Amino acid sequence: MTVPTLKLNDGKTIPQLGFGVFKVDPEETERIVTDALEVGYRHIDTAAVYGNEEGVGRAIANSGIARDELFVTTKLWNDRHGAEESKRALGESLEKLGLDHVDLYLIHWPTPENNNSVETWEAFPSYREQGLTTSIGVSNFDHRYLPQILDTGIIPTVDQIECHPQFQQIETRPLLAEHDIKVEAWGPLGQGKVDYADTVIGEIASAHGKSWAQTIIRWHLQRGHVVFPKSNNRDRMAQNFDVFDFELTAAEVASIDSLENGGRVSGDPADVN
Ligand code: NAD
Repeated sequence: MTVPTLKLNDGKTIPQLGFGVFKVDPEETERIVTDALEVGYRHIDTAAVYGNEEGVGRAIANSGIARDELFVTTKLWNDRHGAEESKRALGESLEKLGLDHVDLYLIHWPTPENNNSVETWEAFPSYREQGLTTSIGVSNFDHRYLPQILDTGIIPTVDQIECHPQFQQIETRPLLAEHDIKVEAWGPLGQGKVDYADTVIGEIASAHGKSWAQTIIRWHLQRGHVVFPKSNNRDRMAQNFDVFDFELTAAEVASIDSLENGGRVSGDPADVN
């Protein structure tokens, strides 16, 4: 199965479907990422704070898959902001991953109380120029925090933000579209905290002979999001990857769109420091 790619605003490409490892136990990460690679995923989303970069790296090293067939993202944690400190942090992440570069490096949160994400962001292009990362982006920068980043003139390729049917980042979306910044949807399934099967998604899923999770992943893909659902369970990993043999109608997409109610399931960037 070939996963579609999206073209980023720096000319590089990204596989639209990947595998996320938030809350994957470091002890189990190597096995779980090995399963994901065997299922067919080639895009892995990790972060320094997940504590599992080493397991991701071991799974990649043991997989025998060529580096240029893989897309690996990691993220700078909140206590490592600043030009010098972020460079050290990226070096540590690469060491743990056993890689000489990542494909995408993100500022994980804006951390408004620290107030130095702009200085940090201004250092990011040098990591690209040094070949330590191919592309650069941000995460959790919504309409309140993205303008300061855009004012630098350095435009992120992606913004990785909470995004699922009941919380679609309505206020931030126009800004992202204006600058061709791709939405990377985190918590794409609502982290399993929303009973989406009991909404119109359940009916649409039945009509296609698919699960509610596959239906939501398909909605993300058709909305142009990059999406990397997480599961420790190999059957669900395979299910979440099996989303390329059906298509939602425009009316089905619109009825899922109408589930928007502003209901986030996890942290507000204003409160994460
Ligand atoms: P998710 O929406 O992918 O939900 C994961 C949960 O959904 C699983 O633990 C499981 O309970 C359930 N699930 C998965 N597949 C299923 C299936 N087929 N059927 C039924 N239930 C299923 O949530 P997530 O892990 O928070 O988000 C995905 C990825 O996004 C993360 O792993 C991480 O890489 C990234 N992320 C980034 C941030 C950030 O701040 N940048 C925050 C959270 C997550």
